[in-house]
Amino acid sequence: MKFENSLAFAKKLDRQDALKTFRKKFLIPKHKGKPVIYFTGNSLGLQPVTTKKFISEELADWAAQGVEGHLHSKRPWLYYHKFFKKALAGLVGAKPVEVTAMNQLTVNLHLMMVSFYRPTGQRYKMIVERGAFSSDQYAFESQVRFHGLHPDEAIVELTPRPGEYTLRTEDIVETIQEHAGQLALVLLGGVQYYTGQFFNIRKITEAAHHAGAYAGFDLAHAIGNVPLSLHADNVDFAVWCSYKYLNSGPGGVAGAFVHERHATQYTLPRFAGWWGHHEAERFKMKKGFIPMPGVDGWQLSNFPVISGAAQLASLEIFQEAGIRRLRKKSLLLTGYLEFLLTQLDPNKEHFIIITPSNPDERGCQLSILMKQNGKKVFNKLVSSGITADWREPDVIRVAPVPLYNTFEEVFIFTQHLRKAIGLRIT
Ligand SMILES: *Cc1c(COP(=O)(O)O)cnc(C)c1O
Repeated sequence: MKFENSLAFAKKLDRQDALKTFRKKFLIPKHKGKPVIYFTGNSLGLQPVTTKKFISEELADWAAQGVEGHLHSKRPWLYYHKFFKKALAGLVGAKPVEVTAMNQLTVNLHLMMVSFYRPTGQRYKMIVERGAFSSDQYAFESQVRFHGLHPDEAIVELTPRPGEYTLRTEDIVETIQEHAGQLALVLLGGVQYYTGQFFNIRKITEAAHHAGAYAGFDLAHAIGNVPLSLHADNVDFAVWCSYKYLNSGPGGVAGAFVHERHATQYTLPRFAGWWGHHEAERFKMKKGFIPMPGVDGWQLSNFPVISGAAQLASLEIFQEAGIRRLRKKSLLLTGYLEFLLTQLDPNKEHFIIITPSNPDERGCQLSILMKQNGKKVFNKLVSSGITADWREPDVIRVAPVPLYNTFEEVFIFTQHLRKAIGLRIT
């Protein structure tokens, strides 16, 4: 599409938007009485209007039924994780047996590494991205130390080429090949939280398997943002949180994927709990852990129902909108943002967009690296009613989310950015 730099054009795109009615399904925070321009759905997604109803239903069942709610509530709590499978499977491109909602992201990352990072004398290395999210870095390091190894020996960090900000797939593959004989695990983000780069999951997985290693992905910034096909791509495992693009509320219950080929590999070592134990036998309270087939066998504790209810509200909206239609709008929305930003600073005097310019290599988010006065510019944006996100040392992350953001907001955002930088309108 040929974009135009005008409010009238932005409004026209909004009128033509097949998903425009979805914005009404969300509660938009206000600044001085007006809805903010909320570009931080990559950090905490907005609250669906229906969340309250879903949570209230659980509270009502709890009030009326007490413990009986485990079996007799509208969505029986004993089987709560099953109500997520269809929607989650659709979002990540998986079979129902491969996905579940459980725990928190970092917890799931550890559980998966317990099973899939099993260093031996020969194979002990883990390839990760440099500058991975802090929690992931701590998880990698502590797992390595847990096995009596030193992070400097065992962790190989992928680094962009000099002068570049993101990783090239061919360089990732080459690094994997280079360490092939010693490699146990490749563990990357799906969409990198800082740069917004969407990695080539299929190619990376293929290279990892070719090298005799497992491949896992942290989908915190990918789920609900980009369509995924974890089953077809042969990914071994993946984990995600639900409070970012999945709009499930602060600290919402997270999720995990384990490929079907590991579903009945009960010999895979794991940390077990009673909710992963065979369902029919769970309440017999017997000695001897028998895992459920599939990722369900990695569950530990009984389900956090109140938090889960919030996620079900959001997943219902995703099912109605469809991740492919959302992606289609997202490509336009973020493409429009990129177009306007490029017009604003054509010679890159004030900022550089470090997110890949190839739409296949990114999701909603653009990461804007400010060359000077970054924090000042960011603070001005905030005081003009824009909710964006500042990442030290110098990046403003903006994520127009197709479920609730508009083309008009993208246009107005770039006008505020122009003012904040101190550029005149040309
Ligand atoms: C948001 C995010 C986290 C947060 O971890 P929690 O366990 O949910 O607190 C971890 N890793 C990545 C890549 C993230 O983007």
